[in-house]
Order: sequence, then structure tokens, then C-alpha cells
Amino acid sequence: RLDIQSLSKAFAGRTVVDDVTLSVAAGEVLCLLGPSGCGKSTTLRMIAGVETQDRGTIRLDGRVLSDGVTSVPPEGRSIGLMFQDFALFPHLSVTDNVAFGLKGRRAETHRRAHRLLERVGLAAHRDAFPHELSGGEQQRVALARAIAPKPRVMLMDEPFSGLDNRLRDGIRDDTLDVLREEGTAVLLVTHEPEEAMRMADEIALMRGGRIVQRGAPYNLYNSPHDKEAAAFFSDIN
Ligand code: ATP
Ligand code: MG
Repeated sequence: RLDIQSLSKAFAGRTVVDDVTLSVAAGEVLCLLGPSGCGKSTTLRMIAGVETQDRGTIRLDGRVLSDGVTSVPPEGRSIGLMFQDFALFPHLSVTDNVAFGLKGRRAETHRRAHRLLERVGLAAHRDAFPHELSGGEQQRVALARAIAPKPRVMLMDEPFSGLDNRLRDGIRDDTLDVLREEGTAVLLVTHEPEEAMRMADEIALMRGGRIVQRGAPYNLYNSPHDKEAAAFFSDIN
């Protein structure tokens, strides 16, 4: 379980993340939804540990990852990342890409990589190189790579936005299936209400660095906090 308490961040005196409090349980998907520039990626970056917060506490299963006193480095946080620019290693095979961050003997790490590739429907491509795959297939490799070390939290920053609609639906569903099976807590950032409605157990609506509303997707859709939130959801049919 990931718990974020009163997280804040300013750049050059301008507050971009303002007192954000959130939690995500294992096996659940929380969508951080909001317009461009509202502070979504900055929030994710602080949780990942690649950006420091000015205030606030980040805990994983009760253990402090970061507060005013301690800060666990990114690689010690058991947090996986999936971004739009997923950047596979071009000179490594699909299997080696997935096995890259795993410790252990090569035979073992490859066995785990092969199992994961099977799971995301890419068993036939395990010896291919990234440039031989379609965008959607590369995204599946990125998913396998992200879950390979069994992170307890997966942070996803618009990972599906580079894909065409048909591909995207399949990959979204597969990604969530895999993460739910693994019992991973998922924090998914998007600026598309439709994506949040489709994927989230819970939505946190963000604007100007603050969480303005939080709840089940249908609650936000049916009872938006204000006119602006209503307008944001009104494009969905
Ligand atoms: P988008 O949907 O466009 O990705 P976002 O919600 O992810 O937007 P952030 O990337 O978190 O937005 O940025 C929030 C604000 O903080 C923006 O105004 C941005 O310009 C600013 N910002 C982000 N990173 C930095 C930085 N390193 N230095 C200065 N300002 C920054
Ligand atoms: Mg962003």
C-alpha cells in the first residue's frame, strides 16, 4: 500500500504540487487525472524518488520512503515505472531487455523473462530486437520489463498515449490484468477522462497542483465537483 501525505513542491517560488494526499492499495488502480501542467508528472517523480519534495511524506506498507529526514534512493523503493517514452535498449534482445534489471544467474533471469514475455503474448518474439517490433509490441516488452523485478507499486505516466486506438485498448486491458494478478498498487497518470473512467478503481482529479475531487469513476462522472470538472467529463459518452 502506497501512502502519500501532504506532498508539496515549488519550482522557483511557484507551487506546482500543493498538499497532495493519496493512497493506493495493493491490486488497485488509482488514476491521477487532470489537465496539462497541473502537476501530475511532478507528483509521480517525487514518489519515484527522482525529484525531492519540499514537504510531505511518502510511505510504502508503512515504511517511510521519503520525509523531511530520510530518503530511500529510487532503486531501493520497489517502485516500477512505465512512461510514454519507454526506451527499450536497442542493442539488447527482447529477452535481455526484460531481464536487464534482474539479479541472479543468466539462466534464471532469462527463464523469468521468457515467462513474462509469454504472459504478454510475445513468446514468439523473445529473440527479436526492439526495432523489429511494432510500437504496441514494444510497449508490451516495456510492461514485462517493468514488472520483472516484482515492484509493489507501478507508476505509469500516460504510457498508452503513443499507441493507436485499436492497439491501445488491448494493451491497457492486458496491462491491468497483469498488474492486478501480481497485486501491484498502480498509480496511473492521464489527462484523458475516458482513460481514467475505463481503467481506474478510483480517480483523483487534480487541478493547479491540488486534488479537487476523489472517488469512484461513476461518482465523479455523475457528481462532478464543479463546472470545470463537469466540462472535463462531458466529452465522454
Ligand atoms: P502534462 O499533462 O502536460 O504532462 P503535468 O500535469 O504532468 O502535465 P508537470 O510536468 O507535473 O505537469 O508540471 C507541472 C508544472 O511544473 C508545469 O507548469 C511545469 O512547467 C512545472 N515544472 C515541472 N518540472 C519543472 C522543473 N524541473 N523546473 C521548473 N518547472 C517545472
Ligand atoms: Mg506529465
